[in-house]
Amino acid sequence: MKGKMRCTKCNEKAVISIRSRHRILCEKHFLEYFINTVEQTIRKYSLIKKKDKVLVAVSGGKDSLTLCDVLLKLGYDVSGLYIDLGIERQRYSKESRRKVEKFSSVKGVELNIVDLKKEYGVSVPLLARRSPRSVCSVCGIVKRHEMNRIAFNNNYDVLATGHNLDDEVSVLMSNLLHWNFDLISRQSPRLEGWHPKLSLKVKPLCLLTEKETAMYAITNDIDYMLYDECPFSEGSTSITIKEALNRIEDRSPSTKLYFYTEFLKHRSMFESLHDRSRVSDCEVCGFPTTSKKCAFCRIIERG
Ligand code: SF4
Ligand SMILES: [Zn+2]
Ligand SMILES: [Zn+2]
Repeated sequence: MKGKMRCTKCNEKAVISIRSRHRILCEKHFLEYFINTVEQTIRKYSLIKKKDKVLVAVSGGKDSLTLCDVLLKLGYDVSGLYIDLGIERQRYSKESRRKVEKFSSVKGVELNIVDLKKEYGVSVPLLARRSPRSVCSVCGIVKRHEMNRIAFNNNYDVLATGHNLDDEVSVLMSNLLHWNFDLISRQSPRLEGWHPKLSLKVKPLCLLTEKETAMYAITNDIDYMLYDECPFSEGSTSITIKEALNRIEDRSPSTKLYFYTEFLKHRSMFESLHDRSRVSDCEVCGFPTTSKKCAFCRIIERG
């Protein structure tokens, strides 16, 4: 971002250039644009109703804390959910938990904390050591299960996550590369709770990029984990896909936005591919599964 750039709306000093939308904005107009984009996304995809109790999954990173902040500004009834995964490498869990607790106390947000060690006597790295799955695969199963459990047990209407456009595009690309129709059919800013124990899941930041959420967090003095990514993400396929997409975006700005929004326009044709025919209730926790016990309960049993 060159120092001399001027806001295209007011000619003040610009803080960001958003090439995909042909905008160069000062701080005031950037914040206006950011909040309006979240508001329009919520309206366009019917993500949250004004009276809803919203549970935001917060990790301590810029995206989830930004989401929480914007939803508070928009007047929603927001609580946070932090899952302490027990990742000791680079003090990841300790540091991220501290950031989340600080944010919640400054903003006066009710915070639900699930501490895996206290709740189940295990950590994600320990569970992964005892499982044939990768750390991230185990972690994903644990996070999904615990988010659903807390949302259901505490009667939240909506579960919101901070996935941004870069995340969504990289997941879509990965699912396409593997022709994973089931996952493609479920990728949406709004995923209806298709089982009595699953709540509605929404992604209000899905049309804003990682660069934009970082700028929002910085201009709002949000203290977030600078090393956003957990140490286990190093060398992961999702990062390789993100880097490849960044190179494409550099050469052809707006490719990501176009790729994702066109997918959303046509995603109904994938919906029938979501296979729920083999789903039953887990005999331990009652959450949906395709076997007798869900993946989470099987992992915990082994742990
Ligand atoms: S990168 Fe870290 S937080 Fe993310 S899924 Fe993997 S283990 Fe979990
Ligand atoms: Zn301006
Ligand atoms: Zn279960």
